[in-house]
Amino acid sequence: MPTDKEYTKILMWPGYRVYQHEIDEKTKTLRLWVRRKGGNRKMECSGCGRRVAEIYDVGERAVRDLPWSEFRTTVFVEVLRLKCPECGVKREKVLLLPSKAPFSKRFEDAVGEACESAAARQVARRFGLAESTVRAIDLRYLERWAAARRKPALHQMGVDEIYMGKKQKFLAVVCNLETSEPLWFGQERKRETLDEFFKTELSAKQRRGIEAACVDMWEPFRLSIEHWATNCRIIYDKFHIMQHANQAVDEVRRAEFFRKGGKMRDLVKGKRWLLLSRWVNLSTSKKNQLNTLFALNRRVMKAYLLKESLDRLWTYRYEGAMLRYLQSWIDQLRWQRLQPFQKLAEMLLDHLEGILNYCRTKVPMGVVEAVNGNIKSLLRRGRGYKNLHYLLLKAQRMAATKTEFVVFKKAA
Ligand SMILES: [Zn+2]
Repeated sequence: MPTDKEYTKILMWPGYRVYQHEIDEKTKTLRLWVRRKGGNRKMECSGCGRRVAEIYDVGERAVRDLPWSEFRTTVFVEVLRLKCPECGVKREKVLLLPSKAPFSKRFEDAVGEACESAAARQVARRFGLAESTVRAIDLRYLERWAAARRKPALHQMGVDEIYMGKKQKFLAVVCNLETSEPLWFGQERKRETLDEFFKTELSAKQRRGIEAACVDMWEPFRLSIEHWATNCRIIYDKFHIMQHANQAVDEVRRAEFFRKGGKMRDLVKGKRWLLLSRWVNLSTSKKNQLNTLFALNRRVMKAYLLKESLDRLWTYRYEGAMLRYLQSWIDQLRWQRLQPFQKLAEMLLDHLEGILNYCRTKVPMGVVEAVNGNIKSLLRRGRGYKNLHYLLLKAQRMAATKTEFVVFKKAA
């Protein structure tokens, strides 16, 4: 049987030694009792962090630690209460005990790391914990990570919304385009929603440092950005504009669907996804399906072609050329009587400056899309993200570690 000294060596808790142990082979449990080593005299108040010399009393806490082989391990730690001149009687700060929960720091780290690549449910099963406990540990793990890191500066931001369903409706997402990291979530899509971000998250200097913002053509957000970030150029990016183009295609599809009966109805049915896909991304059989549809319905075909050709707008690097292309695209709409596209054209003309700004300030393409995709994949996998603070930390960690990043297939 190993001695306390040997247990101390294997346990590897800096500054602490094992003074008693108990091993139960039947239940496969190992219990270790530890206290400070003789030379470890540095005691800090858990309230204010200052060094305190006077001990009030001595207590004990039991925490679960990493398993030793197949043995589940519990460590009983001697914890002092100190008489802090600032805070009164307070527990000492112990690095190995990061919270009031009955787990050691490295146990929590192991659970948190496991949560980076697996759903809470699976991690719970692996560690023999309740799912809610796993989430609580993961949240603390992420909070500690966030508190210890230096946040990158914000020069280019993206603003977008994610549809969360009937109840919660929209989640506004602010992200850093250079680091592909979400920064903040807002619960609505009003001007005040984004005002809140600028007010609470950034200093005046940080607000002045923002040079570009990629946003949807959504007036309330534009007003907020113009008010708070005075050096910022608004850019209506491809991703958002193409979302509107897709909506226009879908409106045409639906109108045709309701107008025609019988055979046509069946043909249009279930083609929504196909019509929203880019031609280059479709397989031959899917292309054939669309061609059959187009042969029977010219309006749906025209709508699809208009969307496809609008996509090429962002291949232009000079605003003059971009403007000319847009003008010729709008000219194609004449005599087509495709109401949704006429509406889209008006919208584009109303937001012309912000579209052309794409040629004036270079912003990375597809970041807003990728951040969105990551958040959606977390939501799909997690189910338990009623806590938006947790969801945000999770998505930030995902961006920082690039775990499972490119979930979004980008069209060439
Ligand atoms: Zn104190």
